[in-house]
Amino acid sequence: MVGARCAGSPTAMLLARRGHRVLLLDRATFPSDSPLSTHLVHPPAIMRLKRWGLLDELRATGCPPIHEYGLECGPVDLMAPLPPADDVDVAYAPRRRVLDDILVRAAVAAGAELREGVSVQELLTEPDGTVVGVRGRTKEGTVVEERATVVVGADGTRSRVAQLVGATEYHARPPLLTSYWSYFAGLAVKDVPTFRANHKYAFAWPTNDNLVLVGMAWRAADFKRLPGGADEVFLPAFDEIAPAFAARLRDAERAERWMSGSVPNFFRTAHGPGWALVGDAGYSRDPCTASGITEATRAADFLAEALHDGLSGARPMAEALADYQRRRDAASRPFYEYTCDFATLDDYPADVLQLLDAATRSEWHAAGLSGLFAQTTSPQEFFSIDSMARLLTGPQGAELTHWRLRALRALVGGPAGRTRLARGLGQRLVNGRLGPLGSYLTTAPPAPPVVTAPTPS
Ligand SMILES: Cc1cc2nc3c(=O)[nH]c(=O)nc-3n(C[C@H](O)[C@H](O)[C@H](O)COP(=O)(O)OP(=O)(O)OC[C@H]3O[C@@H](n4cnc5c(N)ncnc54)[C@H](O)[C@@H]3O)c2cc1C
Repeated sequence: MVGARCAGSPTAMLLARRGHRVLLLDRATFPSDSPLSTHLVHPPAIMRLKRWGLLDELRATGCPPIHEYGLECGPVDLMAPLPPADDVDVAYAPRRRVLDDILVRAAVAAGAELREGVSVQELLTEPDGTVVGVRGRTKEGTVVEERATVVVGADGTRSRVAQLVGATEYHARPPLLTSYWSYFAGLAVKDVPTFRANHKYAFAWPTNDNLVLVGMAWRAADFKRLPGGADEVFLPAFDEIAPAFAARLRDAERAERWMSGSVPNFFRTAHGPGWALVGDAGYSRDPCTASGITEATRAADFLAEALHDGLSGARPMAEALADYQRRRDAASRPFYEYTCDFATLDDYPADVLQLLDAATRSEWHAAGLSGLFAQTTSPQEFFSIDSMARLLTGPQGAELTHWRLRALRALVGGPAGRTRLARGLGQRLVNGRLGPLGSYLTTAPPAPPVVTAPTPS
């Protein structure tokens, strides 16, 4: 396992718990922070920590639980509870030095061997290209060579393993947003308020040590043209899109240095002879939906299952790993498209804004908006014509004045609206208003079974 953070360590832990021999290599040492992360962890990952017996340890660090996500955007003023993943309806934003340390220690406790300060530079291969091991160097310069049945790249977005095996990228898009963030003391923030306006996106959430992480994202091209560094642009941007929050921020104290980051968007082929990729090494997306850790733990779960099948002989390894990639993509692709769409920070058209505003006043839809972000409501389900028809014909629907929404309500509201023709047309009208997400939904397969949001009554 090359890389021992939120993708590598859980994969190693799950395999070691099933009796496999796992060597976990990382050029970093632990505990340590990962410089590129705002570390919000959504309910599906918290559910996995609970299932793995690690949630109590996280709770014991004093990291505050988060129960609601919000969004202020024009008339939209959302703050709604998180739909649960299984029975877990809570998020946390632990510092990476806290979370990754819990994960890496759990892998070691399960029997994995951890070697820190080892940088993997090459792969050992057979003449037919099958990967059979790694070659790297310790911090002191000693060459390390190890052989393995499978080498897993859990080494992040710029994965050396992916590069060496030539893993191909697909659904790729360039970096969309770039952000500044830091940690503030003396700022009371409960849950997750966010603000979207003027092609900017601001966010805040509580973390360990009574600190609050506060950040602001700009479109990548706008970020390059900013007239100064974080000290010059951060507060003025808050003044512009969240003035009340900006006033509170002025009274708070920045406790740490400014951080900045962005990443490209892509899926990579996740396996080949003797190798597999997990976490950001295999799938990277814009941080605006704060979902990389949630995605990494899910993929770790899927990969460990596939590797166990392959290593134990229950299925041929190639078949098990192909299934891993299919499961990963089916679970992640809808959220990937939602994230890439959100990260355009395009102005919402008036009818979409009015629809989102109405959604904040319907209990199920408000939670659904939180769940789109938290990965407990699928975009296919939320924007399905059934869900939209419930919104349009419910008490909130009566308030909708935009002609497009009234036309849609007329189309799908009455008995005639239950015909396949009306529903198909209505769905196309909805998709047509949702930007890049709509184009995906037009061709999307049905919602995958990983979605854990409760169905509306
Ligand atoms: C600006 C920004 C904000 C983000 N905010 C959030 C957020 O709020 N919530 C969220 O869920 N996700 C967030 N993410 C994404 C999240 O950080 C990643 O998805 C997550 O860290 C992926 O975990 P990983 O284990 O795959 O990779 P990483 O966390 O990148 O870990 C890779 C490990 O591999 C090691 N490694 C790399 N190369 C080698 C090598 N050659 N040899 C040995 N070891 C190696 C590294 O030292 C590292 O420890 C954010 C990302 C960015 C860029």
